[in-house]
Amino acid sequence: MSSKLRFQVVGEAFGKKPIEVDEPKERPSEYFAKYVFNKQKMFKYLPAKTYAKMCEVIDNGVTLDMDTANAVAEGMKKWAMELGCTHVTHWFQPLTEGTAEKHDGFVEHDGKGGMVEEFTGKQLVQQEPDASSFPNGGIRSTFEARGYSAWDPSSPVFVIGDTLMIPTVFISYTGEALDYKAPLKKSLLAVDKAATAVAQYFYPDVTRVICNLGWEQEYFLVDEGLYAIRPDLLMTGRTLMGHDSARNQQMDDHYFGSIPERVAAFMKDLEIQALELGIPCKTRHNEVAPNQFELAPIFEETNLAVDHNMLIMSLMKRVARKHGFRCLLHEKPFAGINGSGKHNNWSLSTNTGVLLHGPGKTPLDNLRFVTFIVETLMAVHRHNGLLKASIISATNAHRLGANEAPPAIISSFLGKQLSDLLEKLESSDDDDLFNLAGKQGVKLDVPQIPELLIDNTDRNRTSPFAFTGNRFEFRAVGSQANCAASMIVLNTAVAEALTAFKTRVDVLIANGMDTLKAVLKVVREDIKTCKPIHFDGNGYSEEWKHEAACRGLDVENSAPLMLDNYLSQSSVEMFEKMHVFTRAELEARTEIKQETYTKKIQIEARIFGDMCMNHIIPVAGRYQAYLINNVYKVNQTFSKEEASAINLNNLGLIKQLSEHTNFIMEHVDKLVEARRVANRLEDERAKAIAYHDTVAPLLEEIRYHVDKLELIVDDELWPLPKYREMLFIR
Ligand code: ADP
Ligand code: MG
Repeated sequence: MSSKLRFQVVGEAFGKKPIEVDEPKERPSEYFAKYVFNKQKMFKYLPAKTYAKMCEVIDNGVTLDMDTANAVAEGMKKWAMELGCTHVTHWFQPLTEGTAEKHDGFVEHDGKGGMVEEFTGKQLVQQEPDASSFPNGGIRSTFEARGYSAWDPSSPVFVIGDTLMIPTVFISYTGEALDYKAPLKKSLLAVDKAATAVAQYFYPDVTRVICNLGWEQEYFLVDEGLYAIRPDLLMTGRTLMGHDSARNQQMDDHYFGSIPERVAAFMKDLEIQALELGIPCKTRHNEVAPNQFELAPIFEETNLAVDHNMLIMSLMKRVARKHGFRCLLHEKPFAGINGSGKHNNWSLSTNTGVLLHGPGKTPLDNLRFVTFIVETLMAVHRHNGLLKASIISATNAHRLGANEAPPAIISSFLGKQLSDLLEKLESSDDDDLFNLAGKQGVKLDVPQIPELLIDNTDRNRTSPFAFTGNRFEFRAVGSQANCAASMIVLNTAVAEALTAFKTRVDVLIANGMDTLKAVLKVVREDIKTCKPIHFDGNGYSEEWKHEAACRGLDVENSAPLMLDNYLSQSSVEMFEKMHVFTRAELEARTEIKQETYTKKIQIEARIFGDMCMNHIIPVAGRYQAYLINNVYKVNQTFSKEEASAINLNNLGLIKQLSEHTNFIMEHVDKLVEARRVANRLEDERAKAIAYHDTVAPLLEEIRYHVDKLELIVDDELWPLPKYREMLFIR
């Protein structure tokens, strides 16, 4: 690539006009879910009996029979063909982080030499993609490559382009989950079961607990032309080199600032398409870093919310290209400015109301509120290391522990009102508390939860797990991660905590204690037990790292070692007891995560080495030759004294260029060698550790010198778009 190309592409990027968006004639309420086979469409396209059966399946988890499946498939086909569909695919979430699909045409032989459009219940319910092409962590034996995808009727079918998309789980021939959806659904069942039982202490008519997820998705946009001439962005999703722009986010002028026109057009297009797919987009704004933005929908039931997040990520990428952008979902595309994450807003509600909202109207409501808060904290406390493992990846590792949200320690922020309440509860005595259950309104010793708690604006941005009024906000999730990974762990842990809680309360009740007194007694014990997880201070401070270690929290900083938490005794016990994962599944998943970690850094190291040798060293050399030529000519033109004065700067620069290029070349060799040594390791865990300890640090070390070269080499020669060129969309 020539540097001329860089100038040309930068010029084009700055001159681009927004793309006109075809706006629907209708209002969002009218085109919402236009491409979704939801209950409304089912009602229209299915026979009444089939519709009723499907409602049972969706709402009450009744098993789908083949007759119903056939009838549903028929109606679905009619609807899809009216929208111009010719193909159908099972859509699933393998352990690669993205989604997968395999398209089949609706066509079948008609037995008379022609074709008919056909789509049967069998095709709707089950497909057999080759499991060996997806990560399986050794679960699949080589002679049995089959995997099954099976329809998840709780997430509605939708249409994209000419294809009918069917959300499915993906399992191996031997029944182990090879995806995120199957275990997510199991964890949701576990929470439902455990939380319903506990909720019934307070409200006997509760029959179901639903887990809600409202994700906030951060992302970067970069001009497509600039992206195309950055091999690192193209191959890894992040810039492996590039000096800070003189101006980046220090003026704090991007956050909530006005949205650039080209971006606004993109967002509008994206939102229309998302709404048509039934994703309830609500919020959009600029984020802290230049070129960084956020999109958030209204929260939904977790399984659906996860599907919608997967869908929005692929939609964002597609729509971005139409507008001449690339959408970067990497957690840290640019050094020196904020990275991207997802905030997973998590809450529980019942078929009759909500569980995490306080204060309640009655003392009973208040006790319910405190119970569910405290048991969530018990879960986060007991499994803080595992929760961290659930959000770590080679890419999110750039955010965790760096001085931006979140720190590499899981703790929970509760805010002043809730903290005070828990403290008072813990220290007051039984008799007083008995009044809590007996009276309208709450007595002094169990203080009225102030109104303020409702909109708890006391936002501590450094906390990875913050209570925000009616929900917890898990902020450490990576921007490109599948939300399910962390939701599986959180839900299973909460289910375990609630189950243990109920067991202890029931023992007290069996011994004659009043139910609410028993609840209160156990809650009070648990407030003490989970205290170490509660931290409202500055999560970025050095003191906190020390303090957290003293409190027994997981302070591990190395990504591959964090993953060990999946196989700790407490994790395996929990997952098996709650019927979410078997040990074999956990072992397979951990191995996949280790392998993925390695591969990510391996690719980065390769492309980085290539760029150093193909882009950086030659350009530095060319500039150096130019300077040497200068020195030579100055010597010939001027007297010795005059020449040495004139050449002072040239010689200084020549020396700097040599120092940096020497360092780079020498260390690129070391990088290659470190990779070679790591690659020889058979064990995936050992390999990931080697990549973390020996390969990744070299990338950073070398980068420092590349970035220094960027500062001194003639701008006309520099082949890569610079941060200042990529980061400011006009
Ligand atoms: P902020 O950026 O201030 O945290 P946003 O409005 O961007 O707030 O995002 C809030 C997210 O939390 C939205 O996705 C919203 O739907 C979700 N949310 C709100 N209430 C709940 C709740 N009870 N349970 C789960 N998610 C919720
Ligand atoms: Mg938020």
